[in-house]
Amino acid sequence: MENCIFCKIVSKEIPAKVEYEDENILAFHDITPQAPIHIVFIPKKHIESLDKIIVEDIELIGSIHYQIAEVARKLGLDKTGYRIVNNMGKDGGQTVFHIHFHLLGNRPLKWPPG
Ligand code: AMP
Ligand code: ZN
Repeated sequence: MENCIFCKIVSKEIPAKVEYEDENILAFHDITPQAPIHIVFIPKKHIESLDKIIVEDIELIGSIHYQIAEVARKLGLDKTGYRIVNNMGKDGGQTVFHIHFHLLGNRPLKWPPG
């Protein structure tokens, strides 16, 4: 997808600190971290938001969550806990319109979110 910053990270046009990569998924450190560990997980395939997933994407979205748990364990976050965030649309606070899941950890996170 042209002009999509996350597609440009997938194609390596824009550099990122990659934490995990496979055929379908990329995980990289957020450029503006909101917690000591803040990693963004994306499908390599461009999907605008959670609202736009189709039945064929169910396995992909599930495997992203499986890899989030794997990376969290690798970083020791399973011991302290962590938060997964998906912002959808304007009220959800989505700013990059390529679906992504934030992994936030290594500090206590408040609830409810702002
Ligand atoms: P959201 O507000 O849920 O759409 O999240 C978008 C996230 O992408 C924000 O946390 C940004 O800090 C992050 N972000 C934007 N550009 C980059 C980049 N070039 N590398 C890493 N993270 C980025
Ligand atoms: Zn994209």
